[in-house]
Amino acid sequence: MSEVQIGTTRKIDAVSRITLPNHIKEFLGVDVGYKVELLVVGKDVVIRRKSSYCSMCGKKATHILRDTLFCTACLDFISEKYEAIKNTKEDSFNGKQQEDD
Ligand SMILES: [Zn+2]
Repeated sequence: MSEVQIGTTRKIDAVSRITLPNHIKEFLGVDVGYKVELLVVGKDVVIRRKSSYCSMCGKKATHILRDTLFCTACLDFISEKYEAIKNTKEDSFNGKQQEDD
Protein backbone atom coordinates (compact mmCIF):
# COMPACT_ATOMS: atom_id res chain seq x y z
CA MET A 1 0.00 0.00 0.00
CA SER A 2 1.16 3.52 -0.75
CA GLU A 3 1.95 5.94 2.03
CA VAL A 4 -1.21 6.92 3.95
CA GLN A 5 -2.09 10.58 3.40
CA ILE A 6 -5.35 10.72 5.34
CA GLY A 7 -6.80 8.08 7.63
CA THR A 8 -9.96 7.61 9.64
CA THR A 9 -12.01 4.84 11.22
CA ARG A 10 -15.65 4.08 10.49
CA LYS A 11 -18.00 1.38 11.74
CA ILE A 12 -19.92 -0.69 9.20
CA ASP A 13 -23.65 -0.27 9.85
CA ALA A 14 -26.41 -2.91 9.91
CA VAL A 15 -26.80 -2.88 6.13
CA SER A 16 -23.03 -2.94 5.41
CA ARG A 17 -22.65 0.80 4.73
CA ILE A 18 -19.92 3.17 5.81
CA THR A 19 -20.01 6.94 5.58
CA LEU A 20 -17.26 9.04 4.07
CA PRO A 21 -16.35 11.95 6.34
CA ASN A 22 -16.28 15.40 4.77
CA HIS A 23 -12.49 15.70 4.80
CA ILE A 24 -12.20 12.44 2.82
CA LYS A 25 -14.91 13.56 0.35
CA GLU A 26 -13.07 16.83 -0.13
CA PHE A 27 -9.78 14.98 -0.62
CA LEU A 28 -11.37 12.75 -3.29
CA GLY A 29 -13.24 15.67 -4.86
CA VAL A 30 -16.60 13.91 -4.55
CA ASP A 31 -19.98 14.79 -3.07
CA VAL A 32 -23.52 13.37 -2.97
CA GLY A 33 -24.32 11.61 -6.23
CA TYR A 34 -20.71 11.08 -7.35
CA LYS A 35 -19.63 7.54 -8.13
CA VAL A 36 -16.67 5.96 -6.40
CA GLU A 37 -14.88 2.70 -7.14
CA LEU A 38 -14.05 0.15 -4.43
CA LEU A 39 -10.94 -1.83 -5.30
CA VAL A 40 -9.43 -4.68 -3.33
CA VAL A 41 -5.65 -4.36 -3.47
CA GLY A 42 -3.97 -7.15 -1.55
CA LYS A 43 -5.69 -6.98 1.86
CA ASP A 44 -6.66 -3.31 1.49
CA VAL A 45 -9.80 -1.71 0.09
CA VAL A 46 -9.15 1.43 -1.92
CA ILE A 47 -11.95 3.94 -2.54
CA ARG A 48 -11.34 6.26 -5.46
CA ARG A 49 -13.36 8.69 -7.49
CA LYS A 50 -14.85 7.05 -10.56
CA SER A 51 -13.10 8.69 -13.43
CA SER A 52 -14.81 9.43 -16.69
CA TYR A 53 -11.78 10.96 -18.35
CA CYS A 54 -9.29 9.61 -20.87
CA SER A 55 -6.22 8.16 -19.18
CA MET A 56 -3.95 9.62 -21.90
CA CYS A 57 -5.20 13.17 -22.51
CA GLY A 58 -7.74 13.92 -19.79
CA LYS A 59 -10.64 14.61 -22.17
CA LYS A 60 -14.06 12.98 -21.70
CA ALA A 61 -13.64 9.21 -22.15
CA THR A 62 -15.82 7.34 -24.59
CA HIS A 63 -14.21 3.87 -24.58
CA ILE A 64 -12.90 1.42 -22.03
CA LEU A 65 -10.14 -1.03 -22.89
CA ARG A 66 -8.88 -3.44 -20.23
CA ASP A 67 -10.34 -1.30 -17.43
CA THR A 68 -8.65 1.84 -18.81
CA LEU A 69 -10.62 4.77 -20.19
CA PHE A 70 -9.79 6.41 -23.52
CA CYS A 71 -11.30 9.07 -25.77
CA THR A 72 -11.85 8.27 -29.45
CA ALA A 73 -8.81 10.28 -30.60
CA CYS A 74 -6.42 8.49 -28.24
CA LEU A 75 -7.89 5.08 -29.04
CA ASP A 76 -7.45 5.84 -32.76
CA PHE A 77 -3.84 6.91 -32.05
CA ILE A 78 -3.16 3.65 -30.19
CA SER A 79 -4.79 1.61 -32.96
CA GLU A 80 -2.64 3.30 -35.63
CA LYS A 81 0.54 2.69 -33.60
CA TYR A 82 -0.51 -0.91 -32.98
CA GLU A 83 -1.10 -1.48 -36.70
CA ALA A 84 2.28 0.08 -37.56
CA ILE A 85 4.09 -2.14 -35.04
CA LYS A 86 2.11 -5.20 -36.15
CA ASN A 87 2.98 -4.54 -39.82
CA THR A 88 6.66 -4.06 -38.96
CA LYS A 89 6.71 -7.38 -37.12
CA GLU A 90 4.91 -9.11 -40.01
CA ASP A 91 7.42 -7.64 -42.48
CA SER A 92 10.28 -8.93 -40.35
CA PHE A 93 8.59 -12.30 -40.06
CA ASN A 94 8.19 -12.47 -43.86
CA GLY A 95 11.89 -11.78 -44.38
CA LYS A 96 11.54 -8.17 -45.50
CA GLN A 97 14.17 -5.76 -44.31
CA GLN A 98 14.30 -2.00 -44.15
CA GLU A 99 16.20 -0.48 -47.02
CA ASP A 100 18.96 2.01 -46.18
CA ASP A 101 20.07 4.67 -48.65
ZN1 LIG B 1 -7.62 10.96 -24.97
